[in-house]
Amino acid sequence: MSQTRKQIVSNVRKALIKIGTGVLAGTDGLDLSIVEQLVDEMVELRAGGMQIVIVTSGAIASGKHRMGITGKLKSMPQKQACAAIGQGRLMRIYSNAFGRHSVYVAQILLTMSDLTDRARYINIRNTLSTLMDWNIVPIINENDTVSVDEIKFGDNDHLAAMIANVIRADILINLTNTEGLFDRNPVGKQRARLIKIVHEITDEIESMATAEADPVGMGGMRSKVIAARKVTACGIPYIIARGKTKGILADVFAGKEKGTLFLPSAEPMTSREYWIAFTLRSRGKLILDDGAKNAIVTQGKSLLPSGITKVEGDFEVGDPVICIGTDGKAFAKGLVNYGSKDLVKIQGLKTAKIMQVLGYKDYDEVIHRDNMAVAKGSRKT
Ligand code: GLU
Repeated sequence: MSQTRKQIVSNVRKALIKIGTGVLAGTDGLDLSIVEQLVDEMVELRAGGMQIVIVTSGAIASGKHRMGITGKLKSMPQKQACAAIGQGRLMRIYSNAFGRHSVYVAQILLTMSDLTDRARYINIRNTLSTLMDWNIVPIINENDTVSVDEIKFGDNDHLAAMIANVIRADILINLTNTEGLFDRNPVGKQRARLIKIVHEITDEIESMATAEADPVGMGGMRSKVIAARKVTACGIPYIIARGKTKGILADVFAGKEKGTLFLPSAEPMTSREYWIAFTLRSRGKLILDDGAKNAIVTQGKSLLPSGITKVEGDFEVGDPVICIGTDGKAFAKGLVNYGSKDLVKIQGLKTAKIMQVLGYKDYDEVIHRDNMAVAKGSRKT
């Protein structure tokens, strides 16, 4: 048993558990016995004083089953319709399973745009914390009915990563249908080795995760590793483990080396930095010279117009944009004080010239440091 594991799990007071379709789906729609097995374990953890929040998939799978559809769904509206059919059943199964222990649940359906709007974000956070204060188990899924590309999380791995930050979880456990992250695709190739611990999410680690390793779920291992990058960046440990394994949660919380543990970043982002970096969709790009990049990355400075060599995209004041270095790599993201049309006019100029060129100067900085998230080590914006 590793000491690191033990230390991490023994500090957990609030756990976010993500349960994938691959775990819940049985031959007959949703597998009731698995839900009961996991719920019993979660109830046990709660009895030990832990708060539990769930992000669950399975609505589409359940709806498909109800409609007798076996193959792939052909269109987005079909997926949305299946989710609408299946969500009620999904909740009923959880509600009944927790009800056996007189524990009550609450349903929360979210889209990405609910989290990008700061006021809604706060409302979600307040609702979740009230539910937890009341000892209710919040059960979250994407609001598939209204989710189209622009406002979609894409997969519940991403949704769970965002929620981990909203509730400031002490750990995110992503239960899936494989044992964890393998050094190669375990389906078909025999000598795949389970990675027990990941200290830093390097490109090599990312390349071990293929998108299609999970035939039943949505995101595959790739989206789980991308989620790991986000979760660990905000200082939260993340474990990918096999949800169908009996006693998996008990084992994980006993510190046993189950699944893959991704260690949290030593320099975690603040909640606001995280919101800027991962929740907001960027509207444009600023290409910066080496001096500007250096000032931002190593000296903690704001971005001034003089360091900008190119402006890409059409964006307004307050929009999130990505900062790119001369090597073509993104290294920061922030909210701009000037729209793209004005930025094109002042790029490369000294701050003193802003007034002269634009006829106004609301700010010296193009992006103030307080409105910026900078990639450090394993972070990617
Ligand atoms: N929201 C979808 C469902 O409940 C799942 C999306 C996902 O697993 O990534 O079926």
